[in-house]
Amino acid sequence: MELVRTRAELAGLRAVGATTVGLVPTMGALHEGHLSLVRRARAECDQVIVSVFVNPAQFGPEEDFAAYPRDLPGDAELLAAAGADVLWAPTESDIYPPGFATHVVVDTVTDVLEGARRPGHFAGVTTVVAVLFGVTRPTRAYFGQKDAQQTVVIRRMVDDLALPVQVVVCPTVREADGLAMSSRNAYLTPEERAAAPVLHRALLAAVQAAGADPAGDAEPLRQLVRRTVATEPLVELDYASVADPGSLVELTTLDPARGALVSLAARLGHTRLIDNVLVEPGPGSGR
Ligand code: AMP
Repeated sequence: MELVRTRAELAGLRAVGATTVGLVPTMGALHEGHLSLVRRARAECDQVIVSVFVNPAQFGPEEDFAAYPRDLPGDAELLAAAGADVLWAPTESDIYPPGFATHVVVDTVTDVLEGARRPGHFAGVTTVVAVLFGVTRPTRAYFGQKDAQQTVVIRRMVDDLALPVQVVVCPTVREADGLAMSSRNAYLTPEERAAAPVLHRALLAAVQAAGADPAGDAEPLRQLVRRTVATEPLVELDYASVADPGSLVELTTLDPARGALVSLAARLGHTRLIDNVLVEPGPGSGR
């Protein structure tokens, strides 16, 4: 595996004749969730490029940009073992050179959920992903269902701008107790870590209830998530959502033909975590 920094170095490594190039964009501090994307890319592409860039543009002024965990040597080891060909770890000026003046902003699907609570976050994400796509020119780009709204926003950008890349969304990888893997889990105290699985339990309770009443009202599901999370005093719910999985508009009534995205954000001390489970179209079932 090659470790490269600059756009120019990366361009030199783009394999001649590679018919499919897979890109896995990450912010590093890699865990099994990230590695599942890399392995999927490895299985489907001739060349696998993984970017590690903690993108300042997607953090709000009060957020954890400075504290965000960084471990490039550890990441490099994991990526080599997972079969990545190229680790691209650009500096800020490789991504945003002097004079950089372009922003990619997706409307509507960024107005709700994380977009409503983190102003500017998705503009930061879509701008950096557009740069990553432009530099690496991937055939396929791999994202995690863990960040469900991000996948909707990126698909919107790719469709609207007719970008020649196939977006692949991979299932959320969880710890044995159900907690979704996240680089931010490293912030949790032992007590918070013990309380955190309530998030997945709450989502599963809602999905189970949706399965029992697939055309029922959505609000009781949000209430069930709120009530379940409230059983853990260390966990402060930010929002519970039951939304259309495509438009992200909050549902009044479940539509078994479309399914639903059940999602939440919560604070445990200083750490903010998000998670979601899909109610699949057809007979209600989650993953
Ligand atoms: P991040 O480094 O947090 O920006 O994540 C990079 C990519 O890995 C994003 O597409 C995430 O959705 C994905 N990802 C993060 N955590 C998980 C997980 N637990 N399961 C699957 N994908 C994940």
